[in-house]
Amino acid sequence: MTNTPSIIHAKWVITDTTHILKHHALVIQSGLIEAILPSGLAKERYPTVTHTTYASHALLPGFINCHTHLTMNIFRGLADDLELMDWLNNYIWPAENKWLGEELVYDASLLAIAEAIRSGTTCMNDMYFFMNATARAVTETGIRAHIGLHLIDVPTAWAQTMDEAFEKAILFYEEYKNHERITPTMAVHSTYTVSLPQLIKAKKIADDYKLKINIHLQESPQEIAHVQALHQERPLMRLHKIGMVNPDLIAIHMTQINEDDLKILTATKPNIVHCPESNMKLASGIAPISTLMQHGLNVALGTDGAASNNDLDMITEMRSAAFLSKISTQNPQALSAETALNMATINAAKALGVDHKIGSLAIGKAADFIAIDLERIETEPLYHPISQIVYAASRDQVTDVWVAGKQLLKNRQLTTIDEKALLAKVKTWRKRIQNTV
Ligand SMILES: [Zn+2]
Repeated sequence: MTNTPSIIHAKWVITDTTHILKHHALVIQSGLIEAILPSGLAKERYPTVTHTTYASHALLPGFINCHTHLTMNIFRGLADDLELMDWLNNYIWPAENKWLGEELVYDASLLAIAEAIRSGTTCMNDMYFFMNATARAVTETGIRAHIGLHLIDVPTAWAQTMDEAFEKAILFYEEYKNHERITPTMAVHSTYTVSLPQLIKAKKIADDYKLKINIHLQESPQEIAHVQALHQERPLMRLHKIGMVNPDLIAIHMTQINEDDLKILTATKPNIVHCPESNMKLASGIAPISTLMQHGLNVALGTDGAASNNDLDMITEMRSAAFLSKISTQNPQALSAETALNMATINAAKALGVDHKIGSLAIGKAADFIAIDLERIETEPLYHPISQIVYAASRDQVTDVWVAGKQLLKNRQLTTIDEKALLAKVKTWRKRIQNTV
């Protein structure tokens, strides 16, 4: 049995940053893009099916948020204006210790997914505890996610020991390895929270199961000083010595890069995830993105958790990445609008090893795409759609979102999440957390 295709027309179809098609249509069949045609031809070729037209919109690949902690949406605004270690040690980790559990992770993940969909994000690369609860929220809502097997060597409500964490990680992998929208990854917190023997064990499991490895790496000067005091070497070198720095590594943050680091990175080509707003908010540092790209490294974009951003808005993240790169190099060409959009789409898909499936609009790829209404006061006159999306649009202009051909946002309304019930739950959490931290 074949399904009836759906045909979505738009004023612009941005298949990738080098192809902006005017008055084209996407033909969607069984969750995939079956064809991309001029609107007139699509109408001729499919005369009997329903056609939907987005007359003032651009269709483009959904954003891929390459580094998130969805659950941290519940701690948004709990503690601000602090340095990373102060923020973690004195606010975030105590709050997590008190409240961490299935119920919190599920509700908070739902909140984050609702925000992500409403911002045009169709895939997230998450790392947090109680992965099953996040996976349940992902399964129910229809979004796509890469979910990390979370490893941190501190006793938590999720795992008291590293052995327990490894055991639970493998169970999660087995349960989700064939899921249509969930991809398990390895997610090691950092080199200061996981010992060398445990890093080697994590690498072995990742190699055996062919998993990408995520790790927070060289995020701040304090991290470098801390690891150097403990181990007399920099975090990157520590990983390099055990062979972990390679194209299967997703190195998150990398604001602290010296000449030796750059040599290692250039030779080994890990993927870098840039989180400019989190780095700015925690005053961690500035990742030298244009230099990394000039050395041939793939750089993707992530928001980090909402407690250090404080949102999951990939449009403003693109803008921040571009602006931060320009001002830090004093070169307006350091990071263009097109490069920023690549970082939020195809570069992220490459980092996750799924650029054959998502990250651009192409025949045979998943129908993960969004509609942005550009004929608004805020984005007119419209000389160039990508410029308007990166430098002027707001996430409120994302009107519709599809993942695997299923519509998750329709004219700004979530189709798989009960917004009212979600807000009521979140208010209850706020009262519980606020009264006890
Ligand atoms: Zn993070």
